[in-house]
Amino acid sequence: MNLSSWYKKSAPLFTAKESKSILHDFFVYGKEGLTINPYNGCHHRCGYCYATYEWSPEFYDRIYAKINATDLLYKQIRSWKKNIINPVMIASATDAYQPAELKYSLTRKCVEVLQEFEIPYYVFTKSSLIERDLELHKRYSNNCFVVWSITTNNEKIKRVIEPGTPPSKSVFRVIEKFCKSGIKCVINIDPILPLITDSAEDISSILDTANDIGVEYVSGAILRLRYDIWERMKYILQTLKIDNSIKFYEKIFKFKDPIINLKINLNAEREYSVSIMKFLEWELEKRCMKFGYPKLNIKKISSSSFIKNKKNMVSLVDFMK
Ligand code: SF4
Repeated sequence: MNLSSWYKKSAPLFTAKESKSILHDFFVYGKEGLTINPYNGCHHRCGYCYATYEWSPEFYDRIYAKINATDLLYKQIRSWKKNIINPVMIASATDAYQPAELKYSLTRKCVEVLQEFEIPYYVFTKSSLIERDLELHKRYSNNCFVVWSITTNNEKIKRVIEPGTPPSKSVFRVIEKFCKSGIKCVINIDPILPLITDSAEDISSILDTANDIGVEYVSGAILRLRYDIWERMKYILQTLKIDNSIKFYEKIFKFKDPIINLKINLNAEREYSVSIMKFLEWELEKRCMKFGYPKLNIKKISSSSFIKNKKNMVSLVDFMK
């Protein structure tokens, strides 16, 4: 993906398409789970996005809506063979509440199916559009939570690093409503960008706002670099006019600019990472907040390999197997 494709001001196009499956296993850093991505591509144009690979050159410009998502979900759940169903992450490679959701409502429909089968789930979003579904998540608040990715409270920086996202203020306004409704909320400060969003003031500002509105859980992680992410990060560092930033990145990520076709992610050096994560830990302790995510109950399936929904109804999908 080239740089101009990322930093366009125009809105992406929407395209409906049929998909082959919707519920996928993931295994990251020793953690396993399931994920649903109702869309391919993302409106939010985050420069640091890990989901932008060369096989998705239109990632920011064309949003593919998987219009058969709910049919697939019914089929996959009804033919489930294992005796547990792990909590489902919505979504791992897109924002499930980006503007396309207003047109297609695929996320809403998938959540309704998960609730119908009493499957735990958690939603990742940077969007205030999730407010539309507050009542939906509220009725399942004993076994779901929402993770809000907030990288900065500084609007000038936000417009450069993730130009398609709504302002933090409007997102926090919605988070407050979710907290008041009893839905567990997590603030995910991820990625923390060296020299851009890693200052004590930046991180404390997010924690203070979160604490004031009743958020209990916070998570966070430092940026990982890949060659295409580095090209966008260079553009961001130049736009923000941060002195000696390229040298600093070379030092803490241990590479020489340019990174050529490196497919793995580079982690920041230990000393830097420990100092930032320790700071986050202390600041959370001071505010009596917790690091990490709430626990969800794993769905256990007894004897039969055929999983029934709450109403135990026969649906059209039963005849399609
Ligand atoms: S919201 Fe997530 S998926 Fe979308 S561009 Fe930003 S980082 Fe990528």
